[in-house]
Amino acid sequence: MNAVPVVGRVAELREAADAARARGGSVGLVPTMGYLHEGHQSLVARSAAENDLTVVSIFVNPLQFAEGEDYGTYPRDLDRDLEMCADAGAGLVFAPGAEEMYPQVPLTSVAVEGLNAVLEGWSRPAHFDGVATVVAKLFAMLGPGRAYFGEKDYQQLAVIRRMAADLSMPVEVVGCPTFREPDGLAMSSRNVYLAADERPAATVLWRSLQAGRDAVVQGSRDPGEVEAAMASVLAAEPLACPDYAAVVNAATLERPDVLDGELRLLVAARVGRARLIDNLGLDVGRL
Ligand code: AMP
Repeated sequence: MNAVPVVGRVAELREAADAARARGGSVGLVPTMGYLHEGHQSLVARSAAENDLTVVSIFVNPLQFAEGEDYGTYPRDLDRDLEMCADAGAGLVFAPGAEEMYPQVPLTSVAVEGLNAVLEGWSRPAHFDGVATVVAKLFAMLGPGRAYFGEKDYQQLAVIRRMAADLSMPVEVVGCPTFREPDGLAMSSRNVYLAADERPAATVLWRSLQAGRDAVVQGSRDPGEVEAAMASVLAAEPLACPDYAAVVNAATLERPDVLDGELRLLVAARVGRARLIDNLGLDVGRL
């Protein structure tokens, strides 16, 4: 397997992207926080199939963590990540230090108002401003033609799409399906926090989403009823501490009065040390 080059400086990143463009090549970006798994690799492989140069950024972004969250302990393993990037077809890894990304305390922040305040934003108020700001910086540093994000973080994908549209960023934001373990648990770097007895309990998010989907498939059009079906599955798992179970319009993330059109079911719960999220799309018009 070929080794993938890794750079830590913005100037080196730009040079590599400019060289690819000078050859007439397209550039794809896969932003990550590292500790990669097959879900990340599916994004890298998609980008590699659609672009001449695929850049994977690996940066645990302090701006998107609140006091008391897991910034300091977020799992890190650059050597393993580099192998996984090479394996999936990446052409370059950008792994900057915090001082390279934030040489001075930023006075500028990107806030996608409304989308940043609901669901995950309710529990993590500054989170999406931190995400939008770092992704805007990565777009400015690299100038990718396409950027790849997982539906696993559905609200993040919605925030980035809206940011790119509102700010006329010349990048196509590509959403990619969620990669799951065979038992339905969405792959996540944070799954490593799960103790052996917590691992089976973590499937409760997927089970809860299926209960929500079943309720809609069986005819419920009342968001409260569908959310109650999801919440009761979460509540029945003794090792899970539920945060929210919601059904929203897939585009606006607003809760409709009556369920119709394209919906997104979203759940969040803490299992042991791990705060886990998951979601599922559903088109009422195509049931
Ligand atoms: P992270 O490193 O967790 O910030 O994730 C980096 C990117 O990978 C984000 O766009 C995530 O949505 C995406 N991602 C994370 N887990 C999965 C998964 N299980 N399936 C697909 N994409 C994922």
